[in-house]
Amino acid sequence: MKEGPKFRELLDGLFEGVYYVDLHRRVRFWSKGAERITGYSAREVVGSKCSDNILVHVDGSGKNLCCSACPLIETMRSGGHHQAADIFLHHKDGHRVPVSVSVSKIRDARGNPAGAVEIFRKTVEDSFSAEYVAGLRKAAMIDFLTGLPNRRHIEEKLAASIELLKRHGTSFAVFFIDLDHFKKINDTYGHAMGDRVIKMVAGTLKANTRAYNLVGRWGGEEFVAIVNHTSGENARLFAGKLCALVGNSFLNHEGKLIRVTVTLGAALAEKGDTLQSLLGRADRALYEGKRSGRNCVVFEGKIVKPR
Ligand code: GH3
Ligand code: MG
Ligand code: MG
Repeated sequence: MKEGPKFRELLDGLFEGVYYVDLHRRVRFWSKGAERITGYSAREVVGSKCSDNILVHVDGSGKNLCCSACPLIETMRSGGHHQAADIFLHHKDGHRVPVSVSVSKIRDARGNPAGAVEIFRKTVEDSFSAEYVAGLRKAAMIDFLTGLPNRRHIEEKLAASIELLKRHGTSFAVFFIDLDHFKKINDTYGHAMGDRVIKMVAGTLKANTRAYNLVGRWGGEEFVAIVNHTSGENARLFAGKLCALVGNSFLNHEGKLIRVTVTLGAALAEKGDTLQSLLGRADRALYEGKRSGRNCVVFEGKIVKPR
């Protein structure tokens, strides 16, 4: 017959934490589950006494059980075989973990007392699972209204593109994209319709941006696009295309077509650029575009209006 897993492997495979103490309450075995629940590795715990204040079990009122009502001592001392309790152990990171413990007396092959084994499991599986935290991280990078990357995300990507340019000379361009006379839309149709217009523009920008580029919401009614691996000419053509496509997007509101145009300020990254210097050039280009009548692209001093 094929040999099965050893006892140690079986215990390590349990979802619960398991440890064994000898008659001197010295920890002799500490399972993988115990490591996961407490944060302490077997190397840190095996050989120490459970009274060495590692887990420092307390009850719900905060009373330290190691000095008074330790379930391990109680089990070993009492004539009974088994004790169960709901207690709170100390995690290596400092916080308290609610666990239900079950302690059993262990006897050697001759039937003499040899120690005790404790099995414990968390009574509350916290909601901060790895997936939940990953979801929160993602949410912290995504703009709620549009689903686009937010300013923080854009800044991170920009920093990465600047680093690539520095190391490998990979050129890229940045666009500031601002909705024209957007206040008027809010004033005329209300804030909720304003939001729908922002989402509409975001949709057109997103649908026309390739995966290796990035478009995100910088804030309010401003967007930023990063166009990677590009020459100046390609970037200018792409900016012109976005400008024309947004200008030709519309919402049908009770038979009335609601449109908005955008002005784009573009800048090609140069070696030695910082986030501030690069965004500063794009912002000045945007300002230039607003001054010259909006619904246009300004790139390296040239103003291009869609046909
Ligand atoms: P300009 O062409 O010069 O950009 O004119 P503008 O009216 O767009 O002026 P500006 O960019 O200064 O104004 C932006 C307005 O956008 C002001 C603010 O009330 C509105 N806004 C900012 N964020 C939001 C939002 O999330 N939803 C809505 N509905 N409006 C917003
Ligand atoms: Mg603005
Ligand atoms: Mg605006």
